[in-house]
Amino acid sequence: MDEHYLLTCPVCKKQFSDTYLLTCKTGCFSLLRADYSAKSLTLRNLPGIFKYRDWLPVMGSLPTCSSPICFKSSMLAAHLGLKNLWIGFSGYWPLRDAYVNTGSFKEFEAYPTVVRLRERTSGVILVSSAGNTGRAFAQVSAETDQPVIIVVPVSARERIWTTLPAKNLLLITVDGDYTDAITLGNALCSIPGIYSEGGAKNVARRDGMGTVMLEGAVTIGKMPDWYIQGVGSGTGGIAAWEASIRLIKDGRFGSDLPRLLLIQNEPFIPMVRAWQAGRREIIPDLDMPDAKGAISQVYSDVLTNRAPPYAIPGGVYDALSETGGLMDSVSSEAAREAGALFHRLEGIDPDPAAAVCVAGFIKAVHNQVIDPKATILLSITGGGYEIINQDMRIVHPPDIKVENVLNEQCTNSIKRQVTTWVSQYV
Ligand SMILES: *Cc1c(COP(=O)(O)O)cnc(C)c1O
Ligand SMILES: [Zn+2]
Repeated sequence: MDEHYLLTCPVCKKQFSDTYLLTCKTGCFSLLRADYSAKSLTLRNLPGIFKYRDWLPVMGSLPTCSSPICFKSSMLAAHLGLKNLWIGFSGYWPLRDAYVNTGSFKEFEAYPTVVRLRERTSGVILVSSAGNTGRAFAQVSAETDQPVIIVVPVSARERIWTTLPAKNLLLITVDGDYTDAITLGNALCSIPGIYSEGGAKNVARRDGMGTVMLEGAVTIGKMPDWYIQGVGSGTGGIAAWEASIRLIKDGRFGSDLPRLLLIQNEPFIPMVRAWQAGRREIIPDLDMPDAKGAISQVYSDVLTNRAPPYAIPGGVYDALSETGGLMDSVSSEAAREAGALFHRLEGIDPDPAAAVCVAGFIKAVHNQVIDPKATILLSITGGGYEIINQDMRIVHPPDIKVENVLNEQCTNSIKRQVTTWVSQYV
């Protein structure tokens, strides 16, 4: 294989060179996977997460300090009586050399996605997001001038900010919920020159998130026994599993796949229900009854994906099956308490989604699901917002408002405006 990587379909096993493919060319229902020519990981002298370029679907890099860090816990570990607790931290914490400006691991998806798109095609990236993903892409747009369109429900408007002005960002706010934002986003993707960021289907997003496992294994010196994360789509879990498969082939980091423990926030827990019932399919009536009502009650709404890549081959169900994984859920109250405990013991404010993770982790320790001697990688997927607010001047971009995504006149008018905006770039 001359190329840095090829894309492989886990269903038909065909390989493709990358033309910013998001799905198998023969039409399989599957998540394509990047197959890298480097079987052994060499850390490159490149900025931020690009030090892991061997296992990212990009040739170039971007000037960034954004990268996960990993350290051994002393306070939380002592509190829980654990010997080998490691924290993978994806946020802003200068004291520990963590510089994720927008505070969440969604940046590890955004940087490689922008580079991959630029290398494989050219155009504008469109993201429909309720928060952290949109902010991460906005930030990368601000830093790189990459044109990006972000569609959010109006309630998420405040969460889209950057630490420097984003000149090539188009922010569209929809009077509706996240599902309405996705509906409009999908309609806009039919405009030539606009590319969907692709969610879990984008290998750049998954392998970018997989750097948390890589950073953990490199720091610990081997793969952990457990990888623990709060999930909405579960993409971070899939990414950790894929990174582990590569680490096993490398040979220096152990031969057993880390077990995944993935946590959701009650009462919106579709994957927990499906997994605990032993089903590959999520059945909406059983697994997410009254989705709207349930979503309104969670502590972390970034964990409320209604269409996670769970059943799809190469997705969450397969990741859990292959790793001896578990799913569990915690209440919003338990998450809030766990977040405060983590803040007090470790000295940094976790993102609410990371607080959910800590609560699920504590529950598993108390229930003796986790052996106190096990090597654990606890993925704190976001945090450090208090320091971000002190250290940085945050900029809120202007937006275009869409009153009614179901009204054809209204969507046609926004389509015309977006087409005009896109024509400056493609
Ligand atoms: C998106 C997000 C998650 C959930 O990630 P998935 O692996 O996609 O389910 C967890 N924590 C934070 C901070 C997030 O922004
Ligand atoms: Zn296929």
